[in-house]
Amino acid sequence: MSQNKKIGIVVDKDFAIKNFPPYPRPIFFSYENPYRIKFILDYLEKIKLWENNTVIKLSPKNVNESIIELAHTKYYIDTVKRLSSYGSGIIDDEIFITKDTYYLAKKAIGGAIEAVEKVIKKEVNQSIALIRPPGHHALREKGSGLCIFNNIANTILYLRKELNYKKKIVIVDIDDHFGDGIVQYFYSDPSVLYFSIHEFDFVENDMGFINELGEGEGLGKTINFPIPAGIIDNDFLVFMDILEPILKEYKPDLIIVAAGFDMYFADPVGNCYLTSISYFRFTEKILKIAEEVCEGKLAFILEGGYSLIGLPFCINAVIKALLNKEYEQPLFEKVEFLNESKMEKIIKIKSKLEDLLKNYWTVLKNNSKKKNKISFIQIQLILVHNSV
Ligand SMILES: [Zn+2]
Repeated sequence: MSQNKKIGIVVDKDFAIKNFPPYPRPIFFSYENPYRIKFILDYLEKIKLWENNTVIKLSPKNVNESIIELAHTKYYIDTVKRLSSYGSGIIDDEIFITKDTYYLAKKAIGGAIEAVEKVIKKEVNQSIALIRPPGHHALREKGSGLCIFNNIANTILYLRKELNYKKKIVIVDIDDHFGDGIVQYFYSDPSVLYFSIHEFDFVENDMGFINELGEGEGLGKTINFPIPAGIIDNDFLVFMDILEPILKEYKPDLIIVAAGFDMYFADPVGNCYLTSISYFRFTEKILKIAEEVCEGKLAFILEGGYSLIGLPFCINAVIKALLNKEYEQPLFEKVEFLNESKMEKIIKIKSKLEDLLKNYWTVLKNNSKKKNKISFIQIQLILVHNSV
């Protein structure tokens, strides 16, 4: 069985050469550049990945504008097209446009669709789409946070409309940032469960609160696990304690990972301290669950991640785990970080989130029966106290 296993990786050299930011470094815009993909592809060549018969190259599917219209307004699509034809422009204050932006963003959607379609048609077991620009912040009517089109939302809407695929889908978003674009597409849709772990500003507050749980029929199907800045490898996978039982209860047909790598310690945008070993361990776990609940149907779609040194290793870590191989992290990652674990705070967040979710998930209700009793007693005491 494992001899026949196939991992599909969507690659296209346009992602490694086109849509260069027209701004001098170092500013926020400049991090989303072709070197992100070039460095990954060079590294995969260097380690001779393509000689492995289990790994096959896939190309982005050709998509026409009507596919983009499933996820975005005509006006917004035309704006991106128009500015691209002029050769430059700025949308919002976080998106640069070059002559290649429309072309490449359209190709990125095609890359995400190819990766997911091949998995649901069982032509490959798992897949990775090495695409850019990223997509999870993009909204229906405008781009945001370096994202032009919402690659994952667009892919799901394509599956629903063009392939008549109606089965349950889970999106696990491990990017450092909250996928405020994706969440808005499926907030009331019970057939898409969105789970996000993201860095959260606990002082100013932020989007992606624990009590944003979806609405209507979608209640309980949006799950946010905010974490404090500065987490380390040992802190990262606590969220799986909630995600794993929920995946087993929900039983999706497909798991899509919004694979951002900007919690990496050397990332210039995120503020966390993960090394590539976290992405290896995460992939091992999510693969095992996928094999248990959905015949291993799992697709990784690249989102953020801007450390040119770290990205190739993070991608390799994911590939190694998908191939059921050992992973040896590079020596330069074996540093002692000065900051401490944020475990205490993360456990508190987990416990609060579990309390909120037990109303929607039987597995969590059973886990927290004891806790419920205590809080019931506490309520009684409060009532007695108040009535005195
Ligand atoms: Zn990000």
